[in-house]
Amino acid sequence: MDQTQFLCDLVKTTEQYNQIIRSPTESDFPDVLVFKLPDSTNVTCPLCMTELIRTGRFATGENKAQPPRLLYNTHRNVLLVSQMLLCSKCGYFHSHNESLLQQTTVNPPFIIFSRSGATEDFYNFVVTSLSQGKRFRYEGNVFGF
Ligand SMILES: [Zn+2]
Repeated sequence: MDQTQFLCDLVKTTEQYNQIIRSPTESDFPDVLVFKLPDSTNVTCPLCMTELIRTGRFATGENKAQPPRLLYNTHRNVLLVSQMLLCSKCGYFHSHNESLLQQTTVNPPFIIFSRSGATEDFYNFVVTSLSQGKRFRYEGNVFGF
């Protein structure tokens, strides 16, 4: 089973949203965070202000234009699989889109940067470590001391 199929199956069966789903330690599959906005929350398109439509679609990579997003984490990195919301005029938006999050009271357990992201735990770990004078190196998508 490849990663995309694993993520598709996980999204279909999970009831755990917005928290890290740990993969068995011996597994080759990553930890996953399936992220969606509460069903009661209405959000509008950041471009045209039309109300967005909730779809059953998530960024699993099944659609090549909607891959999961890598989040750095303290023990094992996490794939962020976000719910996709549809604007009938402008197309799809990830539920982790900052413009959408600003319309809600949702406090996601991650931080998104332009090319990557980090879990809240990892971000706090890095900030604390830097403030204590520790230095990091970064090679091939891996952080180390
Ligand atoms: Zn729109």
